[in-house]
Amino acid sequence: MPTAAAAPVKTTCPYCGVGCGVAATPDGQGGALIAGDTSHPANHGKLCVKGASLGETLSLEGRLLHPMIHGQRASWNQAAGFVANGLRRVIDRHGPDAVAFYLSGQLLTEDYYVANKFAKGFLGVRHVDTNSRLCMASSVAGHRRAFGSDTVPNTYEDLDEADLIVLVGSNAAWCHPVLFQRMQAARERRGTKIVNIDPRRTATSEGADLQLSIRPGMDSVLFSWLLSEIAARGAVDEAFVANHTEGLAEALERARAIAPDIVTAATKTGLSQEDIAAFVDLFIDRQRVVTCYSQGVNQSAQGTEKVGAILNCHLATGRIGRPGCGPLSLTGQPNAMGGREVGGLANMLAAHMNYTPAEIDRVRRFWNAPRMAEAEGLKAVQMFEAIERGEIKALWVMHTNPAVTLPRADAMRAALRKLDLFVVSEAVTRTDTTAAGAHVLLPAAAWGEKDGIVTNSERRISRQRAFLAMPGEARPDWEHVQLVAQRMGFGEAFAYPDAASIFREHAALSAFENEGARSFDIGAMAGLDAVAYDTLQPVHWPWRAGEAPRPRLFAEGGFTTPGGRARLVAIAEPELAEAVSDEYPLLLNTGRMRDQWHSMTRTGKARTLARHAAEPTLSLHPEDASRLGIAAGGYARIASRHGEATLRAVTDEGTPRGAAFAPFHWNDATSGLARVDAMTQPHTDRFSGQPELKATPVRVTPIAMACEGLMLSRRPIEMPSWLAHSRLTVPGGEAVLFASPHAPQKVHALLLNLLGSEHRRAALSDPAAEAFRLAVFEEDRLSMALFTARERSAAMFDWLIDAFGRDSLDTAEQRAVLAGRPPAGGADLGPLICACFGVRRGVITEAIRAGAADVEAVGAAVKAGSNCGSCRPEIRRVINDERHKPAHTAAA
Ligand code: SF4
Repeated sequence: MPTAAAAPVKTTCPYCGVGCGVAATPDGQGGALIAGDTSHPANHGKLCVKGASLGETLSLEGRLLHPMIHGQRASWNQAAGFVANGLRRVIDRHGPDAVAFYLSGQLLTEDYYVANKFAKGFLGVRHVDTNSRLCMASSVAGHRRAFGSDTVPNTYEDLDEADLIVLVGSNAAWCHPVLFQRMQAARERRGTKIVNIDPRRTATSEGADLQLSIRPGMDSVLFSWLLSEIAARGAVDEAFVANHTEGLAEALERARAIAPDIVTAATKTGLSQEDIAAFVDLFIDRQRVVTCYSQGVNQSAQGTEKVGAILNCHLATGRIGRPGCGPLSLTGQPNAMGGREVGGLANMLAAHMNYTPAEIDRVRRFWNAPRMAEAEGLKAVQMFEAIERGEIKALWVMHTNPAVTLPRADAMRAALRKLDLFVVSEAVTRTDTTAAGAHVLLPAAAWGEKDGIVTNSERRISRQRAFLAMPGEARPDWEHVQLVAQRMGFGEAFAYPDAASIFREHAALSAFENEGARSFDIGAMAGLDAVAYDTLQPVHWPWRAGEAPRPRLFAEGGFTTPGGRARLVAIAEPELAEAVSDEYPLLLNTGRMRDQWHSMTRTGKARTLARHAAEPTLSLHPEDASRLGIAAGGYARIASRHGEATLRAVTDEGTPRGAAFAPFHWNDATSGLARVDAMTQPHTDRFSGQPELKATPVRVTPIAMACEGLMLSRRPIEMPSWLAHSRLTVPGGEAVLFASPHAPQKVHALLLNLLGSEHRRAALSDPAAEAFRLAVFEEDRLSMALFTARERSAAMFDWLIDAFGRDSLDTAEQRAVLAGRPPAGGADLGPLICACFGVRRGVITEAIRAGAADVEAVGAAVKAGSNCGSCRPEIRRVINDERHKPAHTAAA
């Protein structure tokens, strides 16, 4: 392991699919200094605030450090034996179809490869799927249908060289921040235009030249009209179409049926004819076009059709695989692409091979496999529904939290209790999944502790390198599988000494009997020795033996369809899986917040990241909120046919009328009553199996909260499950924000009971004001606080959290704590915008009113936006808001 004096270790960020290079310098005490890797071509040294805060997430607090069987510590020997016996028992009694593996885009390629090989080649288990099914499966299906393989044609460099970047269903400013800044740099440097197609106005809209707030689900209508206009205006690349594609006539005929004229296109999309015309003009006139798309396209019951509609336009114009041209699916997870490469999706076998008899035989021979899966398995949603029906009896979950993220998450969580064998490989002890009755917990190495490979959204393979020792008995996930495989008599096939040996085998399989038939071929890396693996530089696939890597593909054809031609697709008329009704009149859209990641098991530890959004909120258009009787800052109950949640409401002009938006990050391990995917519907895309997570009909009703409060403590405190609350990491411990429909006195008394009787004596109350306070000091340090009142005072709570993080408070400050009033001058400065420097909206507004006219000037005045840049779109929005305020308001 590196020592404190060691040079930075070059690795990659574990969050989004941008795949930024990170330079981590261990401090010798279990932590590390984090910086962007200036040599990594994905980010050139930049990191967003999530990546930059990775150093705050390395503590061992909450880590799973030892194997557990039925909640009791066990040895690895016992745990591996328990899993092996359980798998053998289920397979003997019910056959391999009663077993499933649920993998993750957080796994490294080597982990994925070993799990896939074990399940499909040695157990005969075909139900192997991954959380990537919820993320980008529609892009995979769209690529395979059009190109013959799941191959992203372009690279990030094309964003630097594009004349037009079209973002579809992608809040890139928050979800792929470093790439979004790259797009903004191109806009400033070369005048690249940016069009943002999204029902919501988001932070991304602030950096766009044209915002198209399209009706949910209607993206294909817009691209159908675009395809018609491409043909009508003679913008078809006739040579490319003639030489390298098929299906244009049929695709065009269907496009014309879906959008016969601009009036129909406008009616269906909800866009103005002028905006549609402006978009079409930009697409046709600007030669270099990159279309980036992510969850707004993928997480749809017609996601594959949406992808097809986008690809049709690029194929018809030949804008693919050339500098500055091409469709670019922005992957959500750090190694979703790696999972696709190894065959971690239920409808792929291995190394981009399918379930044809010839391919099954090829993989069988390569693995020398005794029991091959012979057919496609169930995709994620159907897999968990089979668990619900009792058909699947054994499940091994690796590095993911399906009890939070699957649609109908409460029902899926309950279904896990039916399993005869439920194994979870995890880095943390408590998640909603581990708490759902897991029989065996296997401690996994976390980011910074394990070695392997990841592939980002542009097909770039990079090394993730260890820079910390593995704690306790944690092991890489591939070793979990290896130990079980050995117990089942497959030791020889899984005798890997290290990650490098697994990667060599994976690379060799990609080239095995390939001869150009499969675009995924990294045979050039099949002979990497330990040193070459260790020092591997980021590189694009394909990288065939004896050839150079190929960053761009398809400009000269070379598609892997049977005829070698790309297929333009006649897409279906778009419609949502489920329409709104009188009972459920709003459409719920779910997504990410800027500074959180997935179910918060890592980002939830970072103090810096907790500040941007301290609690989950429901965004509503102000008119809808008013109509529903919900005040901004009040609380709402959201209910669908499948479940419900209680969230604080915020009003947002960017949320369309008739819609609502809620983040999916919060769960029972981090909050109460905030499991948003409990409500989402299970309808899936018929090609990709991806669920429609962005359009669930819901009913929203106001809830009158009688009190709100804050608890600060040095250690986590179990909260009652009926209490709406959210936990956040703060300097020195944890804060819990809560709200209840019960009177403050009652709630305060209940929480005091939870804390123990000695605290009751220290509590102060002001019954007339219905304010109740507990503040415990150890010498001059505030060690615990519990404040309950009719309404939460943001200024007081900010000050209190700050006071809690300090080693000592003077007498005046201690009095201020006890009095429940911040010292003079404490004012509510509004939401936090810049997490790096802790700058709130009020401070930025003051700077703008004092003359800061652009983002740079705001940065120079108050530092906001001058570090990682993640908040720059929000600063731009504040500047725009100030500009558009009536003069008397702005001057006030
Ligand atoms: Fe990590 Fe941010 Fe880069 Fe994504 S954009 S890889 S979250 S640093």
